[in-house]
Amino acid sequence: MDKEILDFFNTDLQFIHGVGPVLASKFNDVLDGRRVLDFLLHAPSYVRPREILDSVTNAQPGDTITISLMVKSHKRGGMFRGRRLPTQIICNDKFAAPVTIQFFNVNYLDYWTEKLPVGQWRIVSGRLDFSNKNGAIINHPEFIETPENAYKIPKHQAIYPSGEGLTQKTFSNIRDQIFNIIHERITAHVLSDRMLEFLDALEHVHYPETNDDLAPNGIYMAKLAYCELLAHQTAIAINRRNRKTLKNQRPVRAKKYDLLDKFYEILPFHLTGAQQRTIDEIFADFKKPVPMMRLVQGDVGSGKTMVAMAAAVKMAETGAQTVLLAPTDTLAQQHFNKLAPLCEKLGLVCDVLTGRDKGAGRNQKLISLKSGRTKIAIGTHALFSDDVEYKDLGLVIIDEQHRFGVAQRNAMRAKGNNPDMLALSATPIPRTLSMTIYGDMDISIINEKPAGRIPIKTSKIPVLRTNDLIERIAPQIENGAKVFWVCPLVSESEISDMTAAQSRYEELNKRFSHVGLCHGQMDKKERDKVMAEFANPDSDMRILVSTTVIEVGIDVPSATIMVIENAERFGLAALHQLRGRVGRGALQSYCILLYGNNITPDGLKRLDVLCETEDGFVIAEQDLMMRGVGELLGTKQSGWIQYHFVNYREHRDLFRLAQTAAMNNNSDDENWAAQLRQIFDCAVTAGA
Ligand code: ADP
Ligand code: MG
Repeated sequence: MDKEILDFFNTDLQFIHGVGPVLASKFNDVLDGRRVLDFLLHAPSYVRPREILDSVTNAQPGDTITISLMVKSHKRGGMFRGRRLPTQIICNDKFAAPVTIQFFNVNYLDYWTEKLPVGQWRIVSGRLDFSNKNGAIINHPEFIETPENAYKIPKHQAIYPSGEGLTQKTFSNIRDQIFNIIHERITAHVLSDRMLEFLDALEHVHYPETNDDLAPNGIYMAKLAYCELLAHQTAIAINRRNRKTLKNQRPVRAKKYDLLDKFYEILPFHLTGAQQRTIDEIFADFKKPVPMMRLVQGDVGSGKTMVAMAAAVKMAETGAQTVLLAPTDTLAQQHFNKLAPLCEKLGLVCDVLTGRDKGAGRNQKLISLKSGRTKIAIGTHALFSDDVEYKDLGLVIIDEQHRFGVAQRNAMRAKGNNPDMLALSATPIPRTLSMTIYGDMDISIINEKPAGRIPIKTSKIPVLRTNDLIERIAPQIENGAKVFWVCPLVSESEISDMTAAQSRYEELNKRFSHVGLCHGQMDKKERDKVMAEFANPDSDMRILVSTTVIEVGIDVPSATIMVIENAERFGLAALHQLRGRVGRGALQSYCILLYGNNITPDGLKRLDVLCETEDGFVIAEQDLMMRGVGELLGTKQSGWIQYHFVNYREHRDLFRLAQTAAMNNNSDDENWAAQLRQIFDCAVTAGA
């Protein structure tokens, strides 16, 4: 049974011979897990060939070479007139070209001279260096073997992405042991054909012969990627099906009040077509017997809040309550300030609850929620503290979806009787992928900006020209323009070539009268105060220097200039988010991307994408394409799934194949898919 192999996969690495708890915990840091499985899902990144050369003259300094050498003499190192000299073993290759092997650790002299006895041939593998004095040098070779034992040097060495305290030899030792055990189990038990195929692909990837074996589209990597996608896609398909089960019926609530027409009347603008379509989709969900689970994706400024508000108003027509969850206190307060006047006109009680609420004031709010008087509660995770109760929670709206995990979603759900869920996200995921990533949710896309928005003018300039830039924007600032000035890091000492917010602040402060500073290391209260002051239309704070703490959501319609320093350090998605902080009012806005001297061609390309388009979906698509090139920036905050074998760019066809298979899966496939879900840790939530 395949179970035998799955049990082995789940074994802690410390039970592998030669791995103790210390080594296992080092692996944990690199693998993000310490099971045999975590090791197996960690593919090597490339192959280092170690074919045996006859002569050093065929190699370049810097190459890793494996070569037959005749040992000629030993030269003992040690301290000489206050200098530490290496131990040198002088050798010749087959064509009598000299090669010196050097060891800097003199204590081991006897050991090395024993391993490299004068007058004998040895096969030596290591990095070739060159010095004018000694000619060809190999420092601390990785392998030294007699000609009979040359087979012990791998001809094609798999090189693993590694970390502190782990050598490539440790990796290959453990790999060898793991595959020995796998082979024992394969002989001792009858495994399914699919499992055998899977193990075979894994083995080829861990013993690659060429880099082609590790290429995303090599047969083995593609096979594993498909398995991984199938695991995710079946989990998604099951979650989707579970949602529609009988025990997840949403309560039927009769309409008691007429509020919606009034809501449309008091709106100060006409909804865009995309907003209206999304609202229609939400209302259609409200008519279904199962709870809504909908993700609204729309660029920054596309007007998601009003869509959410329409849903809350519709819910309030039945007397049920809505909560709107924001990622920070500031944003919660901002939503409240915006929505409270609308609610008042509709006669709806609206309240805000965050971590700042304490004591009697907080109690008052909780009583109002419990009694059902408060119909719309806006806040942070404080809204689902243990002691917060609702009379009839009908709708949970989550703003900036990716900041709330599944656990929090579930806690929120538990506060009501199968409440509807609506998530709002400004991180556009390419259409081709959204189904496969958020496949257990229905998706609405707001792909239209409110009328009258003027496109933001975006340009990129080298950081050397910062002073020109300052002189150029100075007149605008004097005329009242507000400027966001974003810097990547806070303190100068962290990375020397980056302009920190603090020093930029000091510099701008000399030039302009009222500059604000806001960064993550500041006290939260202080930070909120600065932001509030900047947002206040009456304040004369014209420039806000900050780190990316302003990234999400903050709304300052009068801000028209966004300067981003070291823009090349940010991912496309983050830059797009930041730029979205301007261009929200009726005036022309500008985004200036300052880039450093060390910008890479990929970095420049990213900035060009931004200069060319404001369409979040186009940007997301480009992001996806470039990510394959190995850009790491921006992956963490994007909230996308971190796959082991899947490459977003190279495996798009496999996404579709796996999705189709997951949706049509028959009982025979189901068993295999269930095993894959265990292997790839894909959670299935009962009745999600
Ligand atoms: P998002 O949350 O999608 O970034 P918001 O909901 O905060 O966007 O809306 C951005 C701004 O646009 C707000 O000031 C909002 O009042 C305004 N707005 C929303 N919908 C429209 C519309 N249809 N026409 C004009 N302005 C709108
Ligand atoms: Mg918003």
